[in-house]
Amino acid sequence: MTRTAKSALIQRKGPRVIRSLPALRRAVAQMRAKRETVALVPTMGALHAGHLALVRLARKRARRIIVSIFVNPTQFAPNEDFGSYPRTFATDLAALAELKVDAVWAPTAKTMYPDGFATRIAPEGPALAGMEDKFRPHFFGGVATVVAKLLLQIVPDIAVFGQKDYQQLKVVTALARDLDIPVKIVGAPTVRENDGLAMSSRNAYLSAEERATAPALHRALKDCAARLKSGRPIAEALAEGRAAIERAGFMVDYFEARHAETLAPIARLADGPVRLLVAAKLGRTRLIDNIPV
Ligand code: AMP
Repeated sequence: MTRTAKSALIQRKGPRVIRSLPALRRAVAQMRAKRETVALVPTMGALHAGHLALVRLARKRARRIIVSIFVNPTQFAPNEDFGSYPRTFATDLAALAELKVDAVWAPTAKTMYPDGFATRIAPEGPALAGMEDKFRPHFFGGVATVVAKLLLQIVPDIAVFGQKDYQQLKVVTALARDLDIPVKIVGAPTVRENDGLAMSSRNAYLSAEERATAPALHRALKDCAARLKSGRPIAEALAEGRAAIERAGFMVDYFEARHAETLAPIARLADGPVRLLVAAKLGRTRLIDNIPV
């Protein structure tokens, strides 16, 4: 069989697209009836190699994989990019077919938030650490609510989230623990472009010039980590990191050294493990990144 014919076949046999809750429940029940383990990989679509790495990790840990694709309106503020967020459903499906994903859960906003929907989770702890929450106060309430719904709709054995969104990973881990949702939250390493830029659906917003500047964010994190390891006081290393990013043309929201588990501010490297986290705007595009020290 030719390569094209083979890939057409794979696409025809691609993941089953599920759009209603009863159909989702039936599909999961069938997997459970066969005693198959189930992994969930929640996404907002516009899939890139970072998302696909989560799927590959899920594949190692469970027999069946469900990827959700839902651009969740409640985690965007009115002035943010919900309307213009990239939507590439057909290409997403083709990529997931290659990875032999079993099902794509793609509900409409009406299915997730029917008329009369009146409940919202208000996460605390890592959700109030003073980083993303400070600049996007609506964000973690929206994320926690939609992730709780996804986890309860499917009750997977594991759910895979990227370390790219490090504070979010901690919020989701606390959510599953605190609400006694029987799922293991698995964190997957950040996938980067060759020049170090963390892959993100929002990188598509960058102009050619901004794209050339963008790796400065990761470079500043790496330089900061190296300085910390060679004994530079934390406050100084953070100020240098922030200045480097500003010189490159970013507007910095935050550049922080936090305890990698609790996200509490940290004064000395010895109080770690330490994670460096940054968010900054390049033109109209907001980028985030983080690395361990
Ligand atoms: P999103 O579609 O941006 O909401 O992301 C869906 C999931 O993919 C989240 O768990 C993200 O943390 C994860 N993710 C996004 N970008 C990357 C990346 N570059 N490397 C690893 N995981 C990522």
